[in-house]
Amino acid sequence: MEVEFSVLRRQYQRYEKEWEEAGLRVMRSGQYILGEEVRKFENEFAKYLGVRHCVGVGNGLDALRLALEGLGIGAGDEVIVPANTFIATALAVSETGAKPVFVDVDLYFGICASEIERAVTKNTKAVMVVHLYGQPCDMDSIMEVSRKHNLYVVEDCAQSHGAYYRGCLTGTFGDVACFSFYPTKPIGALGDAGAVVTNQLDVAERVRMLRNYGSQKKYQHELLGYNSRMDEIQAAFLQVALRHEREGANERQKIAAMYLKEIKNDKMILPQLREGTEHVFHIFPIFPAQGFEREEICNYFKAHGVYTQIHYPIPCHLEECYKDLSYHVGDIPYAEYCAASEISLPMYIGMTIEEAEYVIQVANDFPR
Ligand SMILES: *Cc1c(COP(=O)(O)O)cnc(C)c1O
Repeated sequence: MEVEFSVLRRQYQRYEKEWEEAGLRVMRSGQYILGEEVRKFENEFAKYLGVRHCVGVGNGLDALRLALEGLGIGAGDEVIVPANTFIATALAVSETGAKPVFVDVDLYFGICASEIERAVTKNTKAVMVVHLYGQPCDMDSIMEVSRKHNLYVVEDCAQSHGAYYRGCLTGTFGDVACFSFYPTKPIGALGDAGAVVTNQLDVAERVRMLRNYGSQKKYQHELLGYNSRMDEIQAAFLQVALRHEREGANERQKIAAMYLKEIKNDKMILPQLREGTEHVFHIFPIFPAQGFEREEICNYFKAHGVYTQIHYPIPCHLEECYKDLSYHVGDIPYAEYCAASEISLPMYIGMTIEEAEYVIQVANDFPR
């Protein structure tokens, strides 16, 4: 048997009629940019989260940058960022002209309140909170320390659509939250798309202008804006994806529960779950036990037809693009450990029980 890391086609096939109806509706409408479909999705997504405002944008990275600029963050400011995240979280900070200050994460891969506190300077304006792999961060402590130091909280929910922390959805804690709808994400379009959500009208209005050349009224430009609009066709597809969000989360949770219960191999360390949260398992990470190399385990899986990935092999502070910030190996230990050790097991909508069972069997048979 072969088990791919992810098979997007399965998700397409499951809702084929709905995707096709949505695509055709837009193609036939003659309206392709900033029309009814984007407005409708923005309203539905805001309602789903229980927030006041949602602004559809071109992708997740733009959502993060526009959110930061919407809060007024730019050159001279510092923004605290977990070192263990997808690079986009940090790039968004850099794009505004602000400086990312990298800190370590806890055993659940989320930014640590105590690390935030240690990194605060008089220039710190905000904290990027990434609910990595679909598991909510320690929001009570993070909100407390952020309020204490008067920092904005920006949630990067690019992997955590539908995840709950103490009964509240991720994306409803910070001053602003950002979503990516890249096709593999828990709510995915059939192309690039993203969104910024907030309860603050002034922030929403600035983001709305920034996504469309800094303009509110045609040919009047108040801000130095961008072109980062959500396409009508993606907004139509996203109404379909949003409708089936629970189904997808339940399915990934079911596979995760099988992995957690049935993988029994002391050479592999399974992820810990934060109490009081509902994880949506965008990624299911495992780690080699001491004495075992990641490469050895990945090669073994591959030799048995199970395709794994790594999220992410280089922690942000050691990426080439941040060499000017002069971080060194050893500066951010747990993030460095994760980068050196993490292995993501196959996990996707439409994965069969048989496929999950095969992954478990292969895992349990290591080493042979
Ligand atoms: C995917 C992702 C992004 C960027 O989203 P794009 O839509 O690909 O630009 C940002 N942050 C995290 C944590 C992500 O996983």
